[in-house]
Amino acid sequence: MKKFTSIKTRITMWYTGLMLVLIAIVLTLVGALSYQLSIDNVEKNVTLRVTQISEKMSKRQRDVFRSVENREEFKNVSIYTSDGQYIAGEYIYDAANIKFREGRARRESVDGKEYIVYDVLTHTAPGEHTGFWIRGAESVNSTVLLGRSAVVVTLVIIPIILLLTAFGGYYITGKAFVPINEIIKTANKIAAENDIKQRIRTESEAKPDEIYELSVTLNRMLDKIESLILQEKQFTSDASHELRTPISVILAESEYLLDIVQNDKERELAQNIVDKARQMSKLVTRLLLLARIDRNSQKINKERINLGAVADIAVDMMRKEAEEKGTELFVTVDENVIAEADEALIISAVTNLIANAIKYGKESGYVGVAVSRTELGTEITVSDNGSGISAEHIDKIWDRFYRVDDVRNDNDAGYGLGLALVKSIVELHGGTVFVRSNPGEGTQFGIILK
Ligand code: ADP
Repeated sequence: MKKFTSIKTRITMWYTGLMLVLIAIVLTLVGALSYQLSIDNVEKNVTLRVTQISEKMSKRQRDVFRSVENREEFKNVSIYTSDGQYIAGEYIYDAANIKFREGRARRESVDGKEYIVYDVLTHTAPGEHTGFWIRGAESVNSTVLLGRSAVVVTLVIIPIILLLTAFGGYYITGKAFVPINEIIKTANKIAAENDIKQRIRTESEAKPDEIYELSVTLNRMLDKIESLILQEKQFTSDASHELRTPISVILAESEYLLDIVQNDKERELAQNIVDKARQMSKLVTRLLLLARIDRNSQKINKERINLGAVADIAVDMMRKEAEEKGTELFVTVDENVIAEADEALIISAVTNLIANAIKYGKESGYVGVAVSRTELGTEITVSDNGSGISAEHIDKIWDRFYRVDDVRNDNDAGYGLGLALVKSIVELHGGTVFVRSNPGEGTQFGIILK
């Protein structure tokens, strides 16, 4: 499965992204809130100190001035004359140039730094001074305000949470999809091997979730399909078996009839019955053989056979048909090409291919049968210089009842079972078949046996 289009990856990416957005929102809110709280706090502190000092100054000014340099309460607080000359308290460099203004504590910005400033003008001025400005000023540094814990959360804990989300999500969805992969594997196996006996593996201790249910349901469906296919095969086998005897009787009696009829009209009718009976007999024989191979009940008598001899026998069997059409038969055989196979079945497969090559070949054309050893095993090919098979049909010609020109009342018709039978016989031997064709030039069919 492609990595970035798998549902597993998409779900993991979605939840990790969502987590990132959530964390960003929460951090922004928490940051903004704690910033505001810190500012409120600084404002409170500054206002309180300034107010306390202003009150003390009103009562006993001298004491206050005496203790200005040492006392903690003058932290962030300085005293200026009414015209802005610094006289005591902590000298806050940046805040010294801010204009004095009475009123509430306010925010001022100096060279990019923010300060909370609170000014109070005391009116109980002694001697030469008309009054003093008491200025509280404290800088607000957002990272300091946010505190170390926030930095630790942002830089360490959040990446860890995101990694956990990504890996956890990937692992959990990955595990959840294992049964789906099992379903895909089984479906592909059934399609590739044509083996309806395959079932989806379901672990006995698996959780009975939806995917488990799906696997069990699909297995039940496969059971049903398999039993229907078996029934159908059984029916085909029984029906062909039952039809064999009556067809043999019809064939024998019509052949006898053909011998004894007197006039041409009767001979034509009898000949017609004989032809159809032969066709039916051929059809039923093929159907029965196919059904037996399908049900694994076809006996196969494997022995070491010489494929050259097999080719000679098959060619001899088809000589009459070839002569009737004026087709020349050529046989090219490598010496001692031996295969482990059932001789009668292989002869029947090769005969089918030669019959087709004559039937679909040119009038007075040629058919070549070759036997050779290749790196894949042993090979028998049957080539003709007939009309060929076009690309749209070539993949389907091995299917049962598939014919390129569907002329079912043609006397020669094999009902599209010939190639299906060849394929079944060869696969029963663990071999393969192939076809190559150039429309208009000819066709080559091949059987490869190990
Ligand atoms: P049939 O009994 O109708 O001949 P087959 O299964 O033997 O059925 O063949 C299927 C189809 O493949 C045929 O209808 C025919 O059109 C095509 N075919 C088979 N062999 C050849 C060939 N040698 N040249 C051209 N077409 C062929």
